Amino acid sequence: MKALSIHLTDVCNSKCTFCIVDSPHIKQDSIMRRRVSRFLNENAGQDYEAVNLHGGEATIRKDFLDILDEIRDLGYPTVFLQTNARKLARMDYARTVVEKGVSLFVVSMHGATAETQDGISLAKGSFDQAVQGIRNVVELGATVRTNSVVCKDNFAELPEIVDLCLDLGADMVNISALHTDGTALRNFWEVTPRYDEIQPYVLEACARAVRRDARLLMEGFPYCAVPGYEKYLVDWEDNKFKVLYRTFVMEDYEDHMDDFTRVKDDRCGGCVFNDVCGGVYKEYAERIGWDEFHPVTELPVTASTTAV
Ligand code: SF4
Repeated sequence: MKALSIHLTDVCNSKCTFCIVDSPHIKQDSIMRRRVSRFLNENAGQDYEAVNLHGGEATIRKDFLDILDEIRDLGYPTVFLQTNARKLARMDYARTVVEKGVSLFVVSMHGATAETQDGISLAKGSFDQAVQGIRNVVELGATVRTNSVVCKDNFAELPEIVDLCLDLGADMVNISALHTDGTALRNFWEVTPRYDEIQPYVLEACARAVRRDARLLMEGFPYCAVPGYEKYLVDWEDNKFKVLYRTFVMEDYEDHMDDFTRVKDDRCGGCVFNDVCGGVYKEYAERIGWDEFHPVTELPVTASTTAV
């Protein structure tokens, strides 16, 4: 897929303890509408299949609905919205957003219970709102993909999170390794679990998704951390995203991730996944090290096909 991706706002109505954007600590939005409009205009008519909107929380922008109108007027085929779905708990608002062209909602689901999710978002009621938001857009015929970031507070209930998301009608579940930047970096030791600690739960969550014939996508994990489920790791070769992030444009999101966010170790040279694996988030490698990562010396049969 060839898509545009726009960071629409720095701010959010939640305060997640692992926010990579650092929204909980940002009071003033730096994203100017005219820069967003210029990016949309410059790229219109160039075969982009969708515009992906994210933040912060894109729906809290006062001009969010106007931006959806602008995207539609410029002829982009559809909009994907990464959201905490809290505002979508109101059916009239959810209907308006769907009618203005959002066909895919990527909803953050970081807990299987209100206690866990509200504890992470530091926003009481956010879990119930997200659940209702998903129900609303599913009822309206939109597609829902959930995204669950694995952290210290939720890893043990990851299988139950997957069950919940699928029960609510998600078309795909996305499990993301914690990107230890922004607020997650400020709270590093409070929020960051070790990969060897989370592995049994991640693998069980994957197994449940696969058993239920659900679509599964994993993001940000080193290949050696998810044995048996390597083929579900996101393949950015198939997804070309041109990104507007604050004041700069990334022509290719994958190149940016490889060049600036993740690192490899000498051991990776002897690993069969070295060419495709992005490695480990650099802040994690700097603080926790490499003792739990082991090069894979033989290509597992389970890794040979792409099922996503
Ligand atoms: S050993 Fe290195 S290249 Fe191999 S899967 Fe792990 S992080 Fe990736």
